[in-house]
Amino acid sequence: MHDISEYPSIEADVIVVGAGFAGITAARELKMAGKSVALLEARSRLGGRSLSKPLGDGKVAELGCEFYGQAGTISHRAAQSVGIKTAKVYDTGYRLIDDGGTMRPWKGMAPKVSAATLLDFGQAALRIERMRREVPQDAPWEAPHATRWDSETMWSWTQRNVRTKGGRALMRLMIEAGMAAAPADVSLLHVLNYSNGTGGFRAMTQITGGTLENRFVGGSHNLAMTLAKTVDDETYLNAEVRSITHSGEHVRVRGAGFEAVGRWVVMAVPVPLAGRIEYDPPLPEHRDHVSQRMTMGAAIKYLALYDEPFWRAEGFTGHVISHSSPVRATVDSSPPDGTPGVLTGFVTGPPARQVAKLPAGERRALVLRELERFFGPRAGKPYDLLEQNWMAEPYTRGCYHAYAPPGLYTEYGPALKQPVGRIHWAGAESVPHEFGSMSGAIYSGRRVATEIIGRETGEDPGRPLVTQKTAVPVEEPTR
Ligand SMILES: Cc1cc2nc3c(=O)[nH]c(=O)nc-3n(C[C@H](O)[C@H](O)[C@H](O)COP(=O)(O)OP(=O)(O)OC[C@H]3O[C@@H](n4cnc5c(N)ncnc54)[C@H](O)[C@@H]3O)c2cc1C
Repeated sequence: MHDISEYPSIEADVIVVGAGFAGITAARELKMAGKSVALLEARSRLGGRSLSKPLGDGKVAELGCEFYGQAGTISHRAAQSVGIKTAKVYDTGYRLIDDGGTMRPWKGMAPKVSAATLLDFGQAALRIERMRREVPQDAPWEAPHATRWDSETMWSWTQRNVRTKGGRALMRLMIEAGMAAAPADVSLLHVLNYSNGTGGFRAMTQITGGTLENRFVGGSHNLAMTLAKTVDDETYLNAEVRSITHSGEHVRVRGAGFEAVGRWVVMAVPVPLAGRIEYDPPLPEHRDHVSQRMTMGAAIKYLALYDEPFWRAEGFTGHVISHSSPVRATVDSSPPDGTPGVLTGFVTGPPARQVAKLPAGERRALVLRELERFFGPRAGKPYDLLEQNWMAEPYTRGCYHAYAPPGLYTEYGPALKQPVGRIHWAGAESVPHEFGSMSGAIYSGRRVATEIIGRETGEDPGRPLVTQKTAVPVEEPTR
């Protein structure tokens, strides 16, 4: 890895902007296919939305992305290809639902809420399951009822289809905890597509059988770093890209004190941030509108560290869901050997926007108070409480991912990944497949490499790239 300050002028076949999972994968695939690449990263570290804090003995607390669902997803296969082990998230015992201030333990399929709420929510969730199956993974805008589903928000659909107060609160919780967005901001079609990527609507917030089921031993940041080893010599840090000139046969990518010239550029930064870069000639209006209208979600991740995961001995999994607390969910994120005890708290959606405005001391007191309410006095006294506010990060500006408001998919969907001249778009938000996830990001990096190789060789750009040396398997995703 290099510091860009020592390399004012770079030349490569492909300039890749952004070294998260998408950019790292694109650079790897292109290098393995024989292209010269330069991977430009604004931060002084790699990995983008993956970030870990070491806890000693190779253990980590994960401040960014962490979980994946079924074995066989793209991120799981990527980890296997570089020898990174995976572990199940602890899910033994009682989960808790915070039902308007009352903590109710539950096991099995459904949380312990009133029969009317359960029936109401269950029927709505079933309807969503049926609708999402009609949404094609590659092109949600081609779903039979795409226009109708993309003309309303998740909130308006809930108002019409969910009758009870409790049922509506649960629907809101699903979107706020599962997507870090407000139901009133998100297109119904987007929710359907997103839940296709998570293996189902209910799976969005579940551990066993859901997207929170598995983790990478050593953390997802370790996975990103391991994948990036292949392009270590091609990576430049502290390289914030500010402008791209893309006329003629070349692209010129510039930042403070450097210029990188190539034949192609891969933009692998979050969609809203891609819109802040200056393009010459300017981007066509459809692409510009995509970056104007996509919004990053709102989430602050808290990690409370204890000598041991004391909640396990008391019969709890550590998993809480709450529609009344700003801490919308907690998960037991302790390392696989259970030491130290780590409780992850997610403050997401509208509460995250409010909590972020509080002074640091008040935020901390609020989160500890809520943990204590969930798990008793010991939970309020961790030996450390880590906080990561992704909305405040200049090179991310929110998480877990961007979301689509009504109209975006049906009006501009294909523009998410359609190249503009020599600019190709990667990133977790550039693919409907496993949208917004580590897997989606890796998938997009491979797709973009395929596109560029296809254009260079004049072959069909849609054909998957298969090289002998490709380390990440290239089959289509399984969910
Ligand atoms: C708290 C949190 C929890 C999450 N949980 C999960 C989870 O459990 N499972 C899951 O699958 N996903 C999860 N996600 C989402 C997942 O992290 C992302 O979808 C994925 O990592 C995105 O990868 P990416 O490469 O597309 O983008 P990023 O990781 O955002 O990478 C983009 C890179 O571009 C760089 N950059 C930005 N602007 C510029 C510029 N102008 N010039 C140069 N470089 C620039 C950034 O610094 C960054 O390194 C979570 C995310 C967060 C933050």
